[in-house]
Amino acid sequence: MHSKKLLNPQDWPMQVKMIVSIVAAQVGLAVMLVSAVVHRSDTALEMYTSNLQREVDVLLSSIITDAMLKKDYALLQAVLDDSLRGRSINMIKVMSPTGTLIASSGDLSKLDSIRTLEQINSVNWNTEQDVYKKTEITLAGQTLGVAHYAISLSEQTAGRRKLITQLIIIAALCTAATVGLASIVGTRLVRRVRNLARVSKLAMQGKLNSRVVVNSKDELGQLGLTFNMMIDSINERFEAFNVSERLQTAYLNEAKNERARLTSVLDSMRVGIIFVDINGKVIYVNQSANRIWCDSLPTLLLQPGEHHIDERDLPDGRIIFETCHPVYRDAQTNNGSNKKTSQLLIGSVWVFEDVSEERKTQQKMQYLAERDSLTGLLNRRSFSDALQGQIASKTNESMALVFIDLDNFKIINDLYGHEFGDQTLLDLSQRISSMTRTSDIVGRIGGDEFVILVRDIQDQDMPSWCDRLLLQLTSNATKSDDVGKQTTCSVGIAFYPRDAETADTLIAAADQAKVDAKRVGKNAWRAFQRHAERDAEKMQTLIWADRVNQALRDDGFEVFLQGVHNISDGSIHHYEALVRMPDQSKPGTFFSPGLFIGHAESTGKIIELDQWMIRNCIRILSQSPDCVPIAINMSAISLDDENLPAFVQSQLTEFGIDGHRVHLELTETAALSDIQRAKKAVQALKALGCQVCLDDFGSGFASLSYLKHIDADYLKIDGLFIQNIESDLENQVLLRAIIDIARQSGRLTVAEWVENEAMLERMRGFGIDLAQGYHLSRPAPAREVLKLNDVVSQSS
Ligand code: C2E
Ligand code: MG
Ligand code: MG
Repeated sequence: MHSKKLLNPQDWPMQVKMIVSIVAAQVGLAVMLVSAVVHRSDTALEMYTSNLQREVDVLLSSIITDAMLKKDYALLQAVLDDSLRGRSINMIKVMSPTGTLIASSGDLSKLDSIRTLEQINSVNWNTEQDVYKKTEITLAGQTLGVAHYAISLSEQTAGRRKLITQLIIIAALCTAATVGLASIVGTRLVRRVRNLARVSKLAMQGKLNSRVVVNSKDELGQLGLTFNMMIDSINERFEAFNVSERLQTAYLNEAKNERARLTSVLDSMRVGIIFVDINGKVIYVNQSANRIWCDSLPTLLLQPGEHHIDERDLPDGRIIFETCHPVYRDAQTNNGSNKKTSQLLIGSVWVFEDVSEERKTQQKMQYLAERDSLTGLLNRRSFSDALQGQIASKTNESMALVFIDLDNFKIINDLYGHEFGDQTLLDLSQRISSMTRTSDIVGRIGGDEFVILVRDIQDQDMPSWCDRLLLQLTSNATKSDDVGKQTTCSVGIAFYPRDAETADTLIAAADQAKVDAKRVGKNAWRAFQRHAERDAEKMQTLIWADRVNQALRDDGFEVFLQGVHNISDGSIHHYEALVRMPDQSKPGTFFSPGLFIGHAESTGKIIELDQWMIRNCIRILSQSPDCVPIAINMSAISLDDENLPAFVQSQLTEFGIDGHRVHLELTETAALSDIQRAKKAVQALKALGCQVCLDDFGSGFASLSYLKHIDADYLKIDGLFIQNIESDLENQVLLRAIIDIARQSGRLTVAEWVENEAMLERMRGFGIDLAQGYHLSRPAPAREVLKLNDVVSQSS
């Protein structure tokens, strides 16, 4: 390899190249010099020979012409021998014009081999020593003969050779001297270049300590200096590079740690995460994403920067909720001297969540919330919503609401048990469903109450439809042979928009029609009729009774509290609980009890309502141990219920509440409706530790006399009484009498509806003990008044 390299002159060492070049130049010079000298000497020799030949020709003409003319060949021979010998002529022969040898001198044997001047000129002078010439001897135009002779040039050619030899020697010596000198200079130069090459090689190997030794300021010295500066500069940059590399390594390690932490966080997440770069290439996939997509990622086609939310239904039944958000990072741009930070879009992040279970649960919850658990039909609320939706859609379609009530269901339940009752209801629901079209809506809105919204039906079609319905509902019902178990239904029908314009009133109208059907002997159907006597009041009662029912079923009442204050210092002596019914049509607003208490009393639902209040007030007391007593309003009907004291006791026991913390306010009417039963109930309640108040005291004449029977702890004087006290002198007298009696019998007095400071002052003046009214505090939700976190009401 090495020797191969050396074959290529380009790879020769510099010194060799230099010497070879110098030698080549010298040799070329010498060759040129020698050839010039040879040429010059050859020209000179030629001229010399030519001149000599001319001289010889002249001489020959002069000396042999006479002998030739006379044909004196002996003389000619003698002339030739004597006259020409000693000259440069080596040999000569004279021939007659006829070609006969007349005379000769010298050794003629070589004459034929000697070349003429012209021949020699065309060859060279190196080996020649003689020159041949043929010349005619003429006289007056007559050829006397021809002379052939050879001139010797041995001295001249010897001199020429000597000259050339000397020249070659001189050229060789010069060359040798130049080579020697060049080698010395070259060696020195090459040594410096080698030094440079060695240091460069070391630098290339990363050994940057060596420097080129610089002794002169010539080009090589300059080169050395520049090279050293370059090494210094490299050293500096190398050092800077090392620092930056160390920093980069530290940053890289930190970035790796950060990435490891991030990856472990992302991998531990339940949601699947995929990062996609701006070209749509997937950059990162966490473990959950691989698990969700079973290692074959979905197509993620979206324009860069787009937001996206969707749900995918997978063939395996799973539901995947997916979102995609663009990902930006801070980017700094240099705008002259201003550095600006902007947001650079670097891709998108896809988040996937397997929501199959949630959706199933949601569907289940929704189903449970919307459906009746026994029959699977819509429950009251969702039926009402559906009906409202239908009415709101304003399709002008005429619809019929069919209200179906199982006759004597309570008796069936009591006689044959709940299981049979449930089976009967289930059977009925299936029969009802079999009568409906897919566009109809069916619901179970009460224990034994079913409704069907029959859509797009005309009045005249209804009678036959209802006959068929009754037949369907009663034929072989419950498949029992026991005649007692046979069930019948009463059906009421109301038409929209003819009979009612809202969902509530439509249901109420159908309900009313059902009542008519029952009245005519059950197992019948009746359409709603607007009788003059069936006034709005009745309808209102139905609507409100329905709302109360629904609120009781949905636990939809709210407990409000209003403070009853000590008149002396304004501190709260106890709270009065006031029931509120949320108005579903206007969230955040409530129906006041004045709107529904009366209806609840007339339908008997007041007992359940009062029990709901008792249970929830006692619950509130249990959640707020420091709360002052709460007074709960009791209607006459509740007081009539012999279970009331036992119910109160059970609630006190269940929540571990002392009876002293519960007061019961009995309206005067309640106390007066059945005084003996009320007396008993009050005694039982007082035995539990509860205090009793006679509410709206003074509004009737019998108030004072009934004080004898009801052992009330305090009397709450009617608000209307209080409001008119300024103007009504009689009332003032009566009030003083009430206060006196109360004092004498050790009872406290409360003034309600105290609406201003003057009124309060007035009541103080009268000697009232407690005051209640907007001036002191307004009724507010119990959880706000007592700052309870969670007053979840629960009916018993
Ligand atoms: P009430 O027991 O006499 O309750 C006092 C009524 O006066 C409350 O009306 C209260 O908001 C109102 N009121 C309080 N301060 C003022 C005032 O300064 N000026 C005026 N004008 N009114 C004031 P609310 O809450 O509408 O209750 C009305 C009635 O409904 C109650 O009269 C009570 O008889 C009955 N009620 C309330 N809650 C229940 C309950 O849970 N069960 C029963 N059975 N009846 C209840
Ligand atoms: Mg009251
Ligand atoms: Mg009152």
